[in-house]
Amino acid sequence: MLGYIKGLVELVKGLGITGKHLGKHAVTLQYPEEKDIMPERSRGVVVLLSDKEDGSLNCTACELCMRACPTAAIRIIAPRGEDKKKKLELFELDFSLCCYCGLCEEACNFSALKLTGKYEYSTGNKDDLLWDVNKLQDVGRDVDYVDKRKKKVKKVAPKPTETVDSKPKSDEIKTDKIETKPSATENKTDKIETTKPVDEKPKSEGEA
Ligand code: SF4
Ligand code: SF4
Repeated sequence: MLGYIKGLVELVKGLGITGKHLGKHAVTLQYPEEKDIMPERSRGVVVLLSDKEDGSLNCTACELCMRACPTAAIRIIAPRGEDKKKKLELFELDFSLCCYCGLCEEACNFSALKLTGKYEYSTGNKDDLLWDVNKLQDVGRDVDYVDKRKKKVKKVAPKPTETVDSKPKSDEIKTDKIETKPSATENKTDKIETTKPVDEKPKSEGEA
């Protein structure tokens, strides 16, 4: 009898929760027909970025991303040509090794590589997780990005009048203070020099 009452209570509780959400907007999506929009800083598929004007690959084959990758997911072969410039022969990314840490994106100074919000690449064949340069570039063609190469800040040299009239920098003030303060070893030396030596005590005439 007690178990029957308990079951009834739980049933009412469950119906109460159902009633609370009745008529509200559904939080689940009917994937794959419906898809959520991923946030800008999502850590999904890594892609290679291309120049938005001429479509060429931004990658300079510097290999920094390969060196930064903690799981050795990136493999690059880029020997130097006769003009001493590196030529990209192979760029592969193995998504079965990638842990989506984003270190490769941080290492790249040429806006050539980016983690995206794309996540649909599941496969039953492990070999399909090894993407070559063409696939990495194709998947990244519609990805928006801020081009680091075009955001360089030009430094303007200070005017001569500004340097003469300007206040001394905090570093300069610190240096002055250090110079005027006697060091611990100097103090010790002073003390030793000013102490009267025992032998210098004036001798009596008889002793002389
Ligand atoms: S993706 Fe970036 S870091 Fe990697 S090789 Fe190309 S330019 Fe260098
Ligand atoms: S996200 Fe991390 S693990 Fe994946 S390729 Fe980049 S550095 Fe390697």
